[in-house]
Amino acid sequence: MAAFVKLCTISGTISRHVTVMRKFSGTASRWADQPMVGFIGVGNMGGHMARNLLKKGYPLMVYDVSQQHMDTLKKDGAVLASSPAEVADHVTRIVTMLPESAHVQEVYTGKNGLFSKVKKQTLFIDSSTIDPAVSQAMAEEATEHGAMYVDAPVSGGVNAARDAVLTFMVGGTDKAFTDAKLLLDWMGKNIVHCGPVGTGQAAKICNNMLLGISMIGTSEAMNLGIKLGLDSKMLAKIFSMGSGRCWSSEVYNPVPGVIEGIPSSNDYKGGFGTALMTKDLKLAQNAAIATQSSTPMGSLAHQIYRMMTNQGFGEKDFSSAYQFIKAKL
Ligand code: NAD
Repeated sequence: MAAFVKLCTISGTISRHVTVMRKFSGTASRWADQPMVGFIGVGNMGGHMARNLLKKGYPLMVYDVSQQHMDTLKKDGAVLASSPAEVADHVTRIVTMLPESAHVQEVYTGKNGLFSKVKKQTLFIDSSTIDPAVSQAMAEEATEHGAMYVDAPVSGGVNAARDAVLTFMVGGTDKAFTDAKLLLDWMGKNIVHCGPVGTGQAAKICNNMLLGISMIGTSEAMNLGIKLGLDSKMLAKIFSMGSGRCWSSEVYNPVPGVIEGIPSSNDYKGGFGTALMTKDLKLAQNAAIATQSSTPMGSLAHQIYRMMTNQGFGEKDFSSAYQFIKAKL
């Protein structure tokens, strides 16, 4: 029995406080008495984050446009919903983990969106990386419905999501942050309150501009070293011991075989898609224009990831910058 949910009347009235006996992944069995949580967007990141909540004994109601992703979560014990509205109708704490601003707008404000069935006191936690202005608009509408909203984008990648060691950058009121942290603590290691709604996104955009630049720099340096006859593992080790050290060189090295268990050693599958990195760098460029900030490296990195996306790297992990540089520049 993969999962036994003691309530199982999904039609109409799921108790918001349910008792669950869950046998997760065949390894751990636990009783929990937790309020059911909603989770929308269970892709590369959201799938792991949702599973971590299940592991901690939270009954979960899940929605994703991908039936395949929903089926995977069902096997792990989640209850499936047929729309965001159904999720909002049944639970009062909802996490969203979606690709871009447009998906967030659709899920929250669309015809069968969350706001169409929102209950007062609902807490929305949006962990997608999106335009801070969209986060602020969603928060305003949530407030009109008597609900709370925080933007809580993450840093750390798919392995950090799997291991529940993500860094969350949270924007919202003190009360919303305190409530959100109770859930975020099960999915992350560092939960930082950045300020009002939108500031989590601002911090995330700056972080990813730096990450996008450093990944290209690491790719260039690794490629040059390999062409000079250096062993790739040895070169990565030197970076880690030297001043060239960064996350892209040490934890997420773009050269296949240098580190096992990351996308570069798995044909750049999974991970953080180049198209998503391009989106984040566009958000950074928009922010730079709005604040008249100089970001020459961020601007160039945006160009390079756009070229990669146009040349078929969009679905591959962004560390495929190494392949692109090796072959094309
Ligand atoms: P993903 O594409 O793997 O997952 C997104 C999920 O949302 C998919 O399962 C998709 O089917 C679903 N979805 C899309 N539109 C939907 C809709 N209208 N309703 C319901 N579900 C919908 O993306 P990801 O890599 O998990 O990234 C999610 C967010 O996290 C992005 O904003 C990304 O920038 C950010 N992020 C990703 C990483 C990473 O390493 N992958 C790291 C940090 C932050």
